[in-house]
Amino acid sequence: MTDVKYKRVILKLSGEALAGDQKIGINPLEIRKVAEEIKEVYALGVQIAIVVGGGNMWRGEAGAQMGMERSQADYIGMLGTVMNALALQDNLESLDVPTRVQTSIEMRQIAEPYIRRKAIRHLEKDRIVIFAAGTGSPYFSTDTTAALRASEINADVILMAKNGVDGIYSADPLKDQSAVKFSELTHLDIINKGLQVMDTTASSLSMDNNIPLVVFNMNERGNIQRVVKGESIGTTVKG
Ligand code: UDP
Repeated sequence: MTDVKYKRVILKLSGEALAGDQKIGINPLEIRKVAEEIKEVYALGVQIAIVVGGGNMWRGEAGAQMGMERSQADYIGMLGTVMNALALQDNLESLDVPTRVQTSIEMRQIAEPYIRRKAIRHLEKDRIVIFAAGTGSPYFSTDTTAALRASEINADVILMAKNGVDGIYSADPLKDQSAVKFSELTHLDIINKGLQVMDTTASSLSMDNNIPLVVFNMNERGNIQRVVKGESIGTTVKG
């Protein structure tokens, strides 16, 4: 194995990362770019589990704001993550990267159900595991899923790939010019300062289980590899 800082990682991809500029739906060309980067990291011998979001398809909260029952709206969101997972699997496998999709809601015809020990076994056998359908429960997010699965499979870190933002800032850098970037923080800092990184459930779970987080810009090619090799890009959040 090449010299890497993290040997087992959870890569959190938001739904938007699979959608491209239009920010909705699935764009196979966009997914190809992500898949190629993942393959490069895979080639280093890193064990990779991916948690995919679904914001490019649907967000339960938005449905609830328009009068839907929240849990029902959230289940639609979770199904959106499954579509993304299958698209990502398709793309990775076309690059000869072996993968398995595991869903938190059973859909045996298209994916395995989530079984922790099996997921670990896949990683040990050099397969990338894609976790879909979030936690399987409404009112949660795929960020919380990333924190949960990272704890369960003893991942060394959560790699949070952001679209166009290169770390955690004191305010939204796209809206506030005085926003400053943090190079290091703790999960407690994020909670106390109310920084918009992950939801509080995800932050507190990561804090309680000592899971570090690296937030970095996905739009710069090679960044996943840089983070895995230990380059200080983005913001590192200590466990
Ligand atoms: N979701 C859920 N429970 C989970 C994970 C996700 O109900 O454990 C739903 C929720 O409605 C959410 C949607 O799935 O809005 C898409 O996930 P998320 O917003 O986390 O996706 P991302 O922002 O990462 O693309």
